[in-house]
Amino acid sequence: MIAYDLQCNNGHAFEGWFEDRKAYLDQKKKGLITCPICNVTSVDIVPSTFAIKSAPPSASKDFAAEKAVLEKIGQEAIDFVEKNFDNVGCEFAKEALKIHYGAAEPRNIRGVSTKEEEKTLTDEGIQFIKIPIPARPDTDS
Ligand SMILES: [Zn+2]
Repeated sequence: MIAYDLQCNNGHAFEGWFEDRKAYLDQKKKGLITCPICNVTSVDIVPSTFAIKSAPPSASKDFAAEKAVLEKIGQEAIDFVEKNFDNVGCEFAKEALKIHYGAAEPRNIRGVSTKEEEKTLTDEGIQFIKIPIPARPDTDS
């Protein structure tokens, strides 16, 4: 499941859960996604930023290369991340710290973090990548 931050063309923000991106596109195409506040079907994903963290230590040597690739390919990176990274949502910083200290299984995670959390991660020497998610046209399925 993927949670998207959605916004209607009247500016109402809400969250939608979908099986995957294709399910979102299908439902949007059929006009099945409506704003819970004003009921319009003109709804789009809000551009947002999330952070990801590679599983250490074996992956860390490739981190710089991985980061460069992810930042370069943009959209493909986001699709890749959605498929291959464990979404921990707001728990991102907490989970990254746990992995860093061996308290959680090393794995690729993604999620959202606050500026303060990012500073903590940086202070702890934890590498992460921030990817801005662009608003995308719906014809890319
Ligand atoms: Zn609305």
